[in-house]
Amino acid sequence: LGFAPASRGKQIEAEARALAVPTPKNARALLRTLTAEPHAAGTLADQRTAKFVHDRLKEWGWSVEILPYEVLLNHPSAPPKLEIVRPEPAPLDLEEKPLATDKDSANSLAFPAFNGYGVSGTAAGQVVYANYARPEDFDALEKLGVSVKDKIVLARYGGLFRGLKVLNAQKRGAKGILIYSDPGDDGYAKGDVYPAGPFRPESAVQRGSVQFLSLGPGDPSTPRGPSIPGADRLPIDLKHGFRLDDPEWDKNTGLKRGEYFATIPSLPIGYGAAREILKLLAGSNVPDGWQGGLPLAYHVGPGPVELKFSVWNEYKVRTIWNVVAKIPGAVEPDRWVMVGNHRDAWVYGAVDPGSGTAATLETCRALGEAVRAGWKPRRTIVYASWDAEEYGLVGSTEWAEQFTDEIDRKAALMLNVDVAVAGPDLDMGGVPSLRDLMLEAAGAVTDVRSSRSLRDVWLESKRNAWVASSPLVLIDPFWTRPTSVGDPPSSPRGFTPQLHPLGSGSDYTAFLDHLGVPALDVGFSGKYGVYHSMYDDFNWMEKFGDPEFLTHTMAARLYTVLLMRAANADVLPFRFVPYAEALRDHVDELRLIRARKVRKSAKPGTRPDEDFEGLGDLAESVLRFQSEARSLDKALDALAAKDGARADALSSLNEALTRLERAFLLPGGLEGRSWFKHAIYAPGVTTGYAAWPLPAIRESLEARKSDNLKSAVSSTTAAIDAATAALKRASALARDAAT
Ligand code: GLU
Ligand code: ZN
Ligand code: ZN
Repeated sequence: LGFAPASRGKQIEAEARALAVPTPKNARALLRTLTAEPHAAGTLADQRTAKFVHDRLKEWGWSVEILPYEVLLNHPSAPPKLEIVRPEPAPLDLEEKPLATDKDSANSLAFPAFNGYGVSGTAAGQVVYANYARPEDFDALEKLGVSVKDKIVLARYGGLFRGLKVLNAQKRGAKGILIYSDPGDDGYAKGDVYPAGPFRPESAVQRGSVQFLSLGPGDPSTPRGPSIPGADRLPIDLKHGFRLDDPEWDKNTGLKRGEYFATIPSLPIGYGAAREILKLLAGSNVPDGWQGGLPLAYHVGPGPVELKFSVWNEYKVRTIWNVVAKIPGAVEPDRWVMVGNHRDAWVYGAVDPGSGTAATLETCRALGEAVRAGWKPRRTIVYASWDAEEYGLVGSTEWAEQFTDEIDRKAALMLNVDVAVAGPDLDMGGVPSLRDLMLEAAGAVTDVRSSRSLRDVWLESKRNAWVASSPLVLIDPFWTRPTSVGDPPSSPRGFTPQLHPLGSGSDYTAFLDHLGVPALDVGFSGKYGVYHSMYDDFNWMEKFGDPEFLTHTMAARLYTVLLMRAANADVLPFRFVPYAEALRDHVDELRLIRARKVRKSAKPGTRPDEDFEGLGDLAESVLRFQSEARSLDKALDALAAKDGARADALSSLNEALTRLERAFLLPGGLEGRSWFKHAIYAPGVTTGYAAWPLPAIRESLEARKSDNLKSAVSSTTAAIDAATAALKRASALARDAAT
């Protein structure tokens, strides 16, 4: 996409050479070094990985810098303690067991079980089992007459970002929360456990951040700017992270205490320890769907079992290190094509994020060699190795807050890689305008298992999933009534593959949600049960994840083609019809959610009102977007078919295409979380990870009382209209460039 005929031959040759560069042997060697020691953010081992990445990039011809930031981080200062107090006092074991077949698993420098941005303290009391600790789980408990007030919540992992589990328990008056990994989710119910298989053994603990994300990700002590020397910082307490008795505090954050940062202690535990607690829990049997994979009938409590647990954290402003490298663009040096991956890991992080670092570094080596062989990318390629992602996307967010204006002016798109390899199945997320580029790149790389292209394998699995979901084909008067656009009524829609929509949980967040940079998130998934545990190490990868490092090599090749095309195409390779299709799907999803809510409260047999609060106007706006998207894509295709476009016209067109996604930003951001500015994509308020497309409207529909639905629909409609106007300007420039 986007290459004029005259540029294609040379590009294909350069790509073919670059694609031969990444090798299994090199990827393996890189991963071995990156996983040599536990390297959580802010440790000396973390700094050593920064130097390692820096030195490699330099060797491969990139211009590279290490950028330090001063951020608030907690490190555990002692191993946590958990004991059963009643009926029979008994300590519970929280240690991850060393394994004879995996010598890395005996390392005393690994952080014990703890939560990033958790508080220090002790909690004691009766236990209540709260399933995933979603709001609806607490509602279900309430129906059973069970309150978590002054209790210790025992919740299983899954469903939503763990920080929100802590928030949900805290809001309801719990004294503390234990979050355990249920074997039904990633343990023996899925398959053999490590070291016999890839799934979670009973002592393995999922560490992780419990930041609330209410004001957005990043260093919570600098919610309004970058954590650089002299930063305006909230008052900090070395034990609790924040001085919660500070009168200035509420004013500073605009939030009530306890809506921003955990105030109750939390601790992740394995299912070995959880089993001992669940065994002793009485009270009602659990509601449908709450039974996990342990061999006992689950009860909700409260009690009679009583627990006591303590956690010790040392909060400090610590140094972290982003590594940022560039290959300068030859024609558009001030236009950036970015690729980023975090480097910090909870322990060894062979999968998360070592596989991403190994694969993207192989890509960087390939790009370096391409440049040495004479390939000159039109645009600047920026590689970022982020730090402190695990604590809450800290390195990437602080960098984005520091260089906001420059990113806004220059960034055309960003490829985020977090886990590159957890197994063999390609998993692609991103904004719909990058779907065609992504598929084209996947079409250029061979899947080592099937010898078909990665694209064909991905399309087939998407299609199978679509068929299996038995989609209803509706005659849909909502979309086919006459519109001001005059498009023909749309026929029932068949299979339209899309990248999955981005929510949050990785470093694209600041770029897409805060700054409106089109983003992709791409890796290979599979049977992976050791997430955030000590067993996510090199041995696991060699035995189960990617024994021959072929998937790492495929990933590196995929990123290489994608970046080479994005960086060097004459015209930036976006296509917008997929965006229009995605918008329609997102509107349909809202209609469905609304219909379900209405049906719940309406008399049987009444049809939900489809035109609620101006949704008809929103639909018209989407149809106008679709119609402009069709003409822009046509103009871009026509332009790409011929040579000799004027340089100045191409440069204005690329500028317009760079700015297009920015048009979706809401000037004031989303209500109650204004750091999130994208009108189409944001993480769900109650999911933390999973996207809520068209978030303003979705929030209003999900909220228990919604009085702002109308304004949500109209601000979303305005953002889509602004994007439609931007499409129109780009179309004119594309037609101009073609003449
Ligand atoms: N990826 C990390 C996790 O899932 C951090 C996510 C976040 O804080 O947003 O734990
Ligand atoms: Zn990660
Ligand atoms: Zn992680």
